[in-house]
Amino acid sequence: MFDKMRRSVLAGMAGAVLAVAMTMTPAAAQEKKLTVVATTGMIADAVRQVGGDRVDVKALMGPGVDPHVYRQTRSDIAAMANADAVFWHGLYLEAQLEEFFHDLAKRKNVVALAESLPKDQLLPNEDYENRYDPHVWMNPRLWKGVVAAARDELIKLDPDGKAAFEANADRHLAEIDALADYSDKAFATVPEASRVLVTAHDAFNYFGKAYGYEVMGIQGISTESEAGLKQIEDLVNVLVDRKIGAIFVESSVSDRNIKALIEGAGAKGHKVVIGGELFSDAMGAPGTYEGTYIGMIDHNATVITRALDGEAPEKGLNSKLGS
Ligand code: ZN
Repeated sequence: MFDKMRRSVLAGMAGAVLAVAMTMTPAAAQEKKLTVVATTGMIADAVRQVGGDRVDVKALMGPGVDPHVYRQTRSDIAAMANADAVFWHGLYLEAQLEEFFHDLAKRKNVVALAESLPKDQLLPNEDYENRYDPHVWMNPRLWKGVVAAARDELIKLDPDGKAAFEANADRHLAEIDALADYSDKAFATVPEASRVLVTAHDAFNYFGKAYGYEVMGIQGISTESEAGLKQIEDLVNVLVDRKIGAIFVESSVSDRNIKALIEGAGAKGHKVVIGGELFSDAMGAPGTYEGTYIGMIDHNATVITRALDGEAPEKGLNSKLGS
């Protein structure tokens, strides 16, 4: 009697579970999310924004990590082996991973998202002949092409998610448009003579081209080669001659050379200050506003503008900087 009752209760429970399963929406019933491994934080953010809750994204490179010299670790290889797809930036940004990815592409979905950008929108790479400058994220309007590429690749991997990916991409692309408009306005408030950006390495050429700023990096487009004494001396002379008062450090590059510039200019009687820390090749900490693409570029636009005597709200476009 007791047994019989237990059986019927269990049967009832099983029936209830089945009923719940049958009323679940197709998306919620989906057993396994798409898993994507991305190289840089910027690529990971583009995939997260478009993928929404249908995609699990793991970024290999965290805050402060320099992609030009990054090599895959054992746990990276394991994550990539288990993922449905690997998205990287390309354009020789991840120079040390390129061979590995070309090999992995024979067995897996491996896509270099920035390689999809029209070549006539790319700048040449002064360090390597026949290569392009990879730092396209510095121009938000150019970055939209990478977000669109992420959307198209996700639709190929998960056709059922097409409508969701398109809606997410539209929303994010509109956010990037607002960011681009904010940047236009902010950078235009900087006095023309002050529109010079001196940084640790040449990550800002797309920014310079988009906004009419002169950019000078102590190291070249890649951080692989060291800056020479002569380069430092030349830049000190530029700072002194043109009375440039602020230069910038980068979160993913050592500030040693920037300090050498400040000392060199000081020895010649010209005071230069650090205008702030910019996110060049890596975003801020995960979970913070600066740990997203929008926050990263908002931070840069706001810090550059304010340090060079332009006008921008201290908390940036969305009033979220530093929060
Ligand atoms: Zn770089």
